[in-house]
Amino acid sequence: MAAISYKCPNCGGPLGFDPESQHYRCPYCQSVFTEKELDALSPSSASEEQAPDLNPEGMPGSTEESRASGEQAVIYRCPSCGAEVVTSETTAATFCYYCHSPVVLEGRVSGDYLPDSIIPFQIDRKKAVEQFLSYVRHKKFVPHAFFNRDQIEKLSGIYYPFWTVDYEIQGEMEGTGNKVRVWMSGDIEFTETSIFHFERGGSVKVKKLMRNALKESQRELIDSVMPYRLENLEPFHMGNLMGFAAERRSLESREISPEMEEKARSLASAAFRKTVSRYSSVQVRHGDFQPISEHWSYLLLPVWVLTYGALSGKKYYFAMNGQTGETHGVLPVSFGKLLGASALLGSVVFALVLGILYMFF
Ligand SMILES: [Zn+2]
Ligand SMILES: [Zn+2]
Repeated sequence: MAAISYKCPNCGGPLGFDPESQHYRCPYCQSVFTEKELDALSPSSASEEQAPDLNPEGMPGSTEESRASGEQAVIYRCPSCGAEVVTSETTAATFCYYCHSPVVLEGRVSGDYLPDSIIPFQIDRKKAVEQFLSYVRHKKFVPHAFFNRDQIEKLSGIYYPFWTVDYEIQGEMEGTGNKVRVWMSGDIEFTETSIFHFERGGSVKVKKLMRNALKESQRELIDSVMPYRLENLEPFHMGNLMGFAAERRSLESREISPEMEEKARSLASAAFRKTVSRYSSVQVRHGDFQPISEHWSYLLLPVWVLTYGALSGKKYYFAMNGQTGETHGVLPVSFGKLLGASALLGSVVFALVLGILYMFF
């Protein structure tokens, strides 16, 4: 696995992705490159000889990924300056602390971990800082330590991993519906109740059920800035990570499959139930919904994040959707509203529903 970065062909500066132009910019000479031009450059990568030998077994010739014994940290060499870059096991993109070059850990976004698609950052750092400050200014009693200059520097653009899944659900539903008609004839009020038996059968497509692919506590923070406009997904390009941090998934699709399937079933059931609408009351006697196909997709989505740990141990945060600008925070002292925002966002599309009505008297 290699740590890679892209260098400006004009001056050697570290190229980063620029959300405003959606191109790649050199921070030194301000040259701008398109994705095509970036692809034509060969990225610099840290070679094996440059790798530190921190292998616990003391094996010589360890590759550029070595584990410091007893720790979760994984150490790489910065391709630009050769300094050590310490990462967690799930880091996919980060910065060199010494020369500030963006570094992407290729193995964390390739093979099994190659994302199918990405929404590149649309909001750049400058806008994110402006929005953060205006957000904090509108809140009362936020300690200065939460938004002083040092804190603002910690505002990070991070790509987080997500799963989406499409299901096709085969279902059937059966029950009764009542219709009531009331009329007067002279002084007498008549009530007629008609009871209908209904059956529904067919298949429903549940598209883009979404769940973030992390085990850790950041889940709440990420879910708070949902949703994303998934129609703007683009094919994954490693260059989009340059200049940002990125996390690799820590949850596999099979681990969340039962939960997602259950949600798809209940959405399908609700969609069937919606087609039984012309009665004053409805009783469902039987329903059965089974997935007949599923398609999983692995995505990286952008979030601007600032976290702040209070002495009490409580974690506070500010998070902003890097595509839509949706913001949320849990702030010190004046708690923002805690968000129970559900990770479940889905649309239900009807493929085919055959309805049969029987009338009983
Ligand atoms: Zn340059
Ligand atoms: Zn460096």
